Amino acid sequence: MSDTCLFCRIAANEIPATVVHETGTTLAFRDIGPKAPVHVLVITKEHHANVGELVAASPALAADLLAAAGAVARAEGLTGQGYRVIFNTGPYAGQEVEHVHAHVVGGAPLGPMLAR
Ligand code: 5GP
Ligand code: ZN
Repeated sequence: MSDTCLFCRIAANEIPATVVHETGTTLAFRDIGPKAPVHVLVITKEHHANVGELVAASPALAADLLAAAGAVARAEGLTGQGYRVIFNTGPYAGQEVEHVHAHVVGGAPLGPMLAR
């Protein structure tokens, strides 16, 4: 837990969020600025800076995060038409919050994978 990390503070209930799924190790909540009809962020409760650091430190926790992302997709009704799971990692990817999070997005056609 970091006092200054936004998503650690959400995990600690210090900052409100619209939680849609929770396990012992993960939390999923709606993105404050949704980019699709469904846009949920899935985090580990434990602080890791990004997905690469997470999987290096704890493959089992990375599996928990992916399982939670799958559960969110099912609960949000995304599995029929499809959806994306995105891990922005580092500056070229525009990662803004340095606490690992999967974006689960769907609910409409999402367009090309990368905007140019
Ligand atoms: P990144 O660019 O790091 O991959 O994504 C960070 C995401 O966090 C963005 O989509 C942004 O809208 C979302 N976000 C930033 N601050 C908050 C917040 O306080 N609450 C919630 N629910 N989402 C946030
Ligand atoms: Zn954190």
